[in-house]
Amino acid sequence: MGAVRIACEWLGICSGCEIAILDLHEGILPILEKVEFVHIPVLVDVKEIPEADVGIISGCIENEDNIEVAKEMREKCKIIVALGSCACFGGIPGLRNLYTREEVLEKAYVTTKSTVNPDRVFPRKDVLELQEYVKPLNQVIKVDYYIPGCPPPSDLIGSVLTALLEGKEPQLPTNTVCDECPLQKERKAIPEIRRWCVDGRPEPDKCILEQGFICLGPVTRAGCGAKCPSIGVPCRGCMGPTDRVIDQGAKMISALGSIWMLDEELEIPPEEYDKLAEQLYDPVGMLYRFTLPSSLIPRKIMKK
Ligand code: SF4
Ligand code: SF4
Ligand code: SF4
Repeated sequence: MGAVRIACEWLGICSGCEIAILDLHEGILPILEKVEFVHIPVLVDVKEIPEADVGIISGCIENEDNIEVAKEMREKCKIIVALGSCACFGGIPGLRNLYTREEVLEKAYVTTKSTVNPDRVFPRKDVLELQEYVKPLNQVIKVDYYIPGCPPPSDLIGSVLTALLEGKEPQLPTNTVCDECPLQKERKAIPEIRRWCVDGRPEPDKCILEQGFICLGPVTRAGCGAKCPSIGVPCRGCMGPTDRVIDQGAKMISALGSIWMLDEELEIPPEEYDKLAEQLYDPVGMLYRFTLPSSLIPRKIMKK
């Protein structure tokens, strides 16, 4: 059998996902014995997309060009893998769904402090038309497999590629970041929400969420080795929800609801609920940082 042909493409990205492929370091050597990267813009600037066995696409859909490239990849590749949280869920660029396209353009070209544009000139010619909203890849083409993460853990990329090369079904972890987190959990109720760094830092070795800092470990897919909590930083949910979770942010609200009420002595009366909710600073940015375009309410609903 000849080498498996892999084509990579990037859409709305920061390029961190492609760098994560390179971060396989020597782990890429056994893979390279069996594959040929026939198209990989991070390494070789070739415009034409060739036919391939596996197409790996990173980045979200944010302009017309992204849609065209995604469709061409689907036509030319037998299998499509969405790489990274932008491709899988919309990712951080998806937070622009809190604004209309006009508001985004106004911010970028007129009101930023570093911009001087008194005539309100917007680039029109030779600039790709921005889509009204950011979408994940699977809202434009069929996706066969997903490798989440921002960026995805390199060993997860390696294991998915290895499974595909061996003709097996790639498997993602089904448990949560909490399941692989080394910090001590006591199932404590939290009396208040504290903001990371603003209201101090968590004590080491103890669950960060139980100290009042929002940590999305309970609703986030494992696979990163609990990278952030292991060094005392809350999980922000970049691996996205597990298979059992439909909406990562909504599930976290539900998790917060139960941890607020766990301890009967601390049970909070209903009239206090709003005060607790108000402590949740920037709820969309906190709970949907990577998944807003694939959530149940994927954008701000504007009143006409
Ligand atoms: S998932 Fe993260 S690393 Fe990958 S392109 Fe998006 S922002 Fe960059
Ligand atoms: S620190 Fe976060 S990931 Fe670790 S156990 Fe607590 S909630 Fe879960
Ligand atoms: S701990 Fe959370 S935010 Fe950090 S890498 Fe893992 S999934 Fe992403």
